[in-house]
Parts: sequence; structure tokens; C-alpha cells
Amino acid sequence: MAPRFAQIAVNSGQPTRLAFTYAVPPGMPVREGQAVFVPYGPRILQGIVLGLSETSDLEEVKEIQAVADPEPVLDATRIHLAGWLSETYLAPLWDCVAVLLPHGYGQKPVVMISPVAIPPLLPVYPQDQRILQFLASHGQVTFEAMKESVRGITMKRLERLQAEGYLSVAQGLARPTGRMRMERRVRLLVPGPKALARAQEMEAKRPSTIDARVLRLLAGTNDVPLSEVSKVNAGRSHLLRLAEEGWLEEYSRQVERDPLAAYNFTQQPPATLTSEQLAAADAISAAPGRTHLIHGITGSGKTEVYLELVRRTLDAGKTAMLLLPEISLTPQAIRRYGERYGGQIAVFHSQLGTGELFDQWHRVQQGRLRLVLGSRSAVFAPMPDLGLVVIDEEHEWTFKQESPQPRYHAREVASELCRLTGATLVLGSATPDIVTYHRAETGQIGKVELRSRVVEGVDGELHEGTLPRVSIVDMREELKAGNRSVFSLQLRRAIKISLERNEQSILFVNRRGSARFLLCRACGYVPECPQCRVSMSLDARDPLRPRVVCHHCGRGKAMEERCPKCDSNKYRPFGAGTQRIELEANEAFPGARVVRWDSDTVGRKGSHEAMVHALEAGEFDIVVGTQMVAKGLDLPAMSIVGVVDADVGLNMPEYHAHERAFQLLSQVAGRAGRRDTPGWVYIQTYNPGAPPIECAANHDYRAFYEHEIAHRRRAGYPPFTKLVKLSYSGPGEEESLAEAARIANELRLKRDAAGRADPDVLGPTPAFIARLRGMYRWQILLRGRDPAKLLPGIRFPRGWAIDVDPVALL
Ligand code: ADP
Ligand code: ZN
Ligand code: ZN
Repeated sequence: MAPRFAQIAVNSGQPTRLAFTYAVPPGMPVREGQAVFVPYGPRILQGIVLGLSETSDLEEVKEIQAVADPEPVLDATRIHLAGWLSETYLAPLWDCVAVLLPHGYGQKPVVMISPVAIPPLLPVYPQDQRILQFLASHGQVTFEAMKESVRGITMKRLERLQAEGYLSVAQGLARPTGRMRMERRVRLLVPGPKALARAQEMEAKRPSTIDARVLRLLAGTNDVPLSEVSKVNAGRSHLLRLAEEGWLEEYSRQVERDPLAAYNFTQQPPATLTSEQLAAADAISAAPGRTHLIHGITGSGKTEVYLELVRRTLDAGKTAMLLLPEISLTPQAIRRYGERYGGQIAVFHSQLGTGELFDQWHRVQQGRLRLVLGSRSAVFAPMPDLGLVVIDEEHEWTFKQESPQPRYHAREVASELCRLTGATLVLGSATPDIVTYHRAETGQIGKVELRSRVVEGVDGELHEGTLPRVSIVDMREELKAGNRSVFSLQLRRAIKISLERNEQSILFVNRRGSARFLLCRACGYVPECPQCRVSMSLDARDPLRPRVVCHHCGRGKAMEERCPKCDSNKYRPFGAGTQRIELEANEAFPGARVVRWDSDTVGRKGSHEAMVHALEAGEFDIVVGTQMVAKGLDLPAMSIVGVVDADVGLNMPEYHAHERAFQLLSQVAGRAGRRDTPGWVYIQTYNPGAPPIECAANHDYRAFYEHEIAHRRRAGYPPFTKLVKLSYSGPGEEESLAEAARIANELRLKRDAAGRADPDVLGPTPAFIARLRGMYRWQILLRGRDPAKLLPGIRFPRGWAIDVDPVALL
């Protein structure tokens, strides 16, 4: 029996998590995963069929209007994934479906305004006249487009004009922005020599006939784009005549847009793995369908292990997916994979055009591209027969989408995807996420380790490399010795020597949050919230009465004039931006070529590349940079890394500030001495004993993990609890606070009514950036075993955003 009802996610612009039930008209061939058009209120909208059923509890249901696309766009796995996303991240169902569709497939509802054939006499109002003039010159337009060009136009006015017979207003759907690109071509229908003979025959009569030129062109090539034919001056009439006589035909063909077309991959044989790498690959292959952590120090050859696992997966006839942080998706990285698997790779990242993404999506769905390489959203690629998902640098927080919805974490989506398909999930990192490592420690996932660094020597042989040596510089001592500069004497001396040897240095600056926290330069004291165990920040909104506040729970106090611990008067806001460090570097190292590398100077497409090239060519001696520099820069002449202000990272008001600081310091340190140049790293700090600094200096992940997991357990943070961040943004300081407090109250009441103490409802507190574009921002943090459970049933007005498992609490 044919199904009579369909559950459909509708592209309505309403933030609902519900699917709607529609009746399937008898005889309409509706399938799961298919795009359809459905009536919704007065409009016809796009929808995706998520389920079919024989029965429905609903009394009255509307009928599906039409099938939009004969082939389903979502398979059963992706239909399930959409529902899972919506449930897990409390996100609107359509938004969760949309991330799985081909790029540019969604059709937004629009209002179309059309001119009428014979309008009555001109209206009297000048505004009405302007509207009609605009329509007369532009033809049919959307309401949005008209609003941009004609000021002060309203729906009401348009409806009145419609009633008076001047124009017509209709609801419709925008054209999808993703489409196949078709190319008109011409091809020969007879053998080449025959066409040539005919051309010669024609030319014997009239030397420069166009028909003859067309035949000559085709005799040589057989099949050309229409544009080539126009070049020999042939027009429509020539082609029609030749077609009628049976010489040629015109046809259309799809042109595939391929972002890798510009690469010329020379295929390379697989590398011979070291015994450690081989053992890692074998351990993972031996437990297919599981999740495995590869914990391998920088330069241990994790990528070689991924490449080997990809090879085994493709050889078994399955497909593989490799996710990297966007910033690591450089041409060098793409080339490394392309040289092994060129021709089978699709790349998905945010800088590609809709057309390229659209075409690759289809080639992946058809199984023609079997290795997907991409940033977080590539996890939604429509791969059939998935065998392997690899997430490199799995600790990177860019795998979490913060906006727009759904606010997913690619690692968790991949985990669900692998559960559904039976694929193997591999998470790789030198500094795994504490939560991931805890999963490995407790046996929820497998773990393999790569402990030695692989270095290719000048002889071309592989050697065991050394990790750079790290010195911790106690800045309190510098102050005592009278050095007030941002550079310690040690760092200064090291850079001078590297300049003399024509080597390069990095000065790493933690820019985020600079000058937002307080530090005593005499003893290193930083205020901490006793309840939340995070660093407290400076709130200087009232410059006459600066306060110290906790961004988690809102607890605060007046800022002390002197250090509460040692009574020194060196208790002050801390931090300097890249610009200032650049200036100071220019002063401290006259004659050195200093370049700044941060999101101000590098950000646009390609400029990252240009910077890498300039550094490789030795155009600069000193790079002053932020987080960007820490990731993936691999320069042979880079010998000195100076971390100017390690304390900034250490004291971000975040429960995982230490984890981030450790990851960053380890990564920055990994930039030095990648080849034969020995590397030296200087970490400047007022807290030389802080575990992230000590452990990073000793390259000791394990020790850091032990310290951090104990802290998480004690203070009640993930993995021992789960968090949900609720943010509100609204006008008016008091009104917005009142709204945030109202929701916090409602949540507490609901929790208490259930007779439980879990979850904690912390806040509302001002967001880290408390005021943005005239709006006031507040946040509430829920912490507990399953805090998201408290949310269904609570009505959140506009302005609220829910973030489940947030990676940033700021
Ligand atoms: P990771 O991703 O762990 O930081 P990579 O995979 O980038 O390490 O390897 C570091 C360097 O060592 C790369 O230049 C890589 O080509 C080289 N390398 C690692 N393993 C091998 C191997 N088995 N054979 C040849 N070169 C290797
Ligand atoms: Zn002090
Ligand atoms: Zn607190």
C-alpha cells in the first residue's frame, strides 16, 4: 500500500523543531529524502520529506502540492542525522536539514511584484509613481529588491496598488542559487574526412563561405563549445542549415566546476611507514567501526598514518572523509593528499563558490569522488559507503560551529555519523582535547601513540628528530633587575644571535582578551573566583570605580589598589597588542626586518599564502603574530620562538583556559627547529610554576592531563558535567538584564519544581563583550548532568541563542 502521509521539514523561516504532516495525493510518487512543494499558510514552500506513514492522528492535513526533484537529496543516514542535530543542539529542524543539502539548494520564500499588462492612468501619489516606474524599467522583481531601491515602500501600499489594478503581488520561491552549469556545444555527425571533403567542395565554388569554415573547424576537433563556432563568424542560420542537412548538431553538456582543476598533482607512491606508524595503522584497522585517538607529538607523522588508513579504506571499496581546521587547509596540505589520491578528492571549505561546492556535492553523492577533504561542514558531505572519518587536530575549537544554527561540533556529528554507518572514526592530535583523552582513558574509545619525531635528513634518510628546547623566563625577576621592556634579556640575546646567523624568529602575542585581566607584576597574583575557579576579569565600564568580576557567575568586588597578596603597587591590567610589540621589536632590533601577522594584516583569501611565501623566501627576520602563526607554519630557518605574554592565555576567564594555553604553547613550540636547525623557545611569564607552562616546556602532555582532569573533577566541569550557554542580546541595559533574569528565574523554578539541584543555573552575567552594536548582551550558564533537558517547554523570545556544549564561554 502506498504511504498516505508524509512528515516534512518545511523551509518556512520559522524556528520550529517540528516536522509537519501532509497528505500524499493518490498516485504522487513521493519518496523519503525528496524535495517537495507544500502549502504553508497562504504560501507554497519548499520542504524535505523525512518520513512516510500509512496513518496520521491529525484530522485535517493539507496535500503535498508537487514533487520538486525526482531524485531524493537525503539518504536514510542523513535524514536521521538531521533529526539528531535538531534534538542534540536544540536547533530548528529546517536549519539542520539545510546543512545536509547541496550548496545553494534551499529556496527561500519571496514576494514577487509584477507589472500588469495595461495599467490604468498614472496614480496621483509620487511614491506610487516611483514604484510603477521602477517596475516598468525592471519587470518582475522581489519585494526585497524593490525595498532596496525605492525608499519607504510597504506591503500595505503594494497591496493597495494591487487592488487598484496597477500591479500584482504574489508569493513565490527564490530560485536556488546552486545550479548545474550547462554549456552549449556543437558536434559533427559525420566522419571528419567527409566533412573536410564537403568543405573543400564548397570552397571550390565560393572561397570564403562560413559553412565551410564551420565544417573545417569540426573536421579537426569533432566537438566544440558554441563560442568557438562564433569565432569563425557563424551565426544561428548557418548552424541551422548545416544541422538540417545532417552534418552537425547542437547540444548542451554539464560543465563541472572543480576547485582542484588548477592543481597538477604528480602521483606519488605511498611512504614507507616507520614501525611505530605501521603499528598505529594496524591497531586501528584491527578494530573497524570504533573510535580511535591518535596521540602523536608534532612531526611524528600522523598524516602518514591517515594516508595509509585512507588507502586501506579506498582499496576496500569504501569512501573516506578527512576533516581539518580551516586554517590548515592550505594548498600545501591539499597537494600532500592530492599527490596520493588526485582525481578522487573533493574539497569543501568556506572560501569556495556555491557552484564549486554544488558540483562536488553531486560528484561525492554519486560516488565519483571518494575522498572528502574539508573543514567542519564537510562532515555533512553525502558520502555513500562511508568507511573512515579522520579529524586532524581534533582539539581545535574551530570544529565547533558557533553561528548560525545548528551549533554543532563536527567531532560529535562525526561520531554519530560513524555510529549510523559503521565507519571508523580517527581523532588525531599532539595535544588532545581533555574530554577526548578522558574518553580514551576510560576505555570509551581506543588510543594509539606516536612518540618519536620523524625528520628527513640532508641524506634523504629518516632520522629521529629532537623537540625544541624550552626556557621559562620569570618576568618578576626581570622587573626586579630593572628591565621594564616587554622582552626579557634572554629572549633579546637569543634573537640577536639568530639575526646574526640569518635565521628567523617568531614573537608570539596572545591578543584575545588583552588588558581585560589583572596581574601583579611583582608576585604574579591573578584574582580567581572561589566558586567557579576561573580567573576574574577587569570591568572598567565605570573608570572611576573599576571592578573585578567573574564571567561565569557574576560575583564581583571593587578592584583593590594594591596587590591583595603581596601589597605591591604593581597590580594592574595586563597585555599588549601585536602592534605595540611590533613597534617595540623595531626599537629593540634596529635593522631587523619585522612583519606583523594577525587577522588585521592577513585575512583575505590568498594573503596567508603570500605571507608563507615571503617567509620562505627569507624576506623577513622577525614575525610578530597571534594564534594564526602557531598553527601549521613549517619553516626550516625558524629557530627562535618567543612567547611574549603567556599569562594572557593562562588567565582567560574560561574553565578551559589552562587547556587552551597548554595547547597553544605546545603548538607554538612545535614551530621551532622542524628541520636541522635546533629550535629554542622562550616562554615569558609571571607564573613560571603554572602547570600549562611547565608541562608545555617539558613536552609532557600526560602530566598536564593529570593536572587538568583533577581540576575539572574538583570544579565540576566537562567531562564531569555538561554545559549549555544561553545568550541574550537586546536593547536597553536594564530591559535586557530584566529579560535575562526572567529566563534565569524560570529555569530555576522549573528545576526546583522537579525537586532537583541539578543543573546549576549561573548568571545572568554580562557577556565578555557586554555591548555590541548598541545591543546589551547577557548570558546564563547551565551546568549539570544533562542541562539541555531543562530547556524544552521554556519559550525563548527573539534575541536568545542556545549553545549546547559551548567551546567558548565568552
Ligand atoms: P604530524 O602530522 O604528526 O605533525 P607529519 O605527518 O606532518 O607529522 O610528518 C612530519 C614530517 O615527517 C613530514 O614532512 C613528513 O613527510 C615526514 N614523515 C613522517 N613520516 C614519514 C615516513 N614514514 N616517511 C617519510 N616521511 C615521513
Ligand atoms: Zn603581588
Ligand atoms: Zn564565579
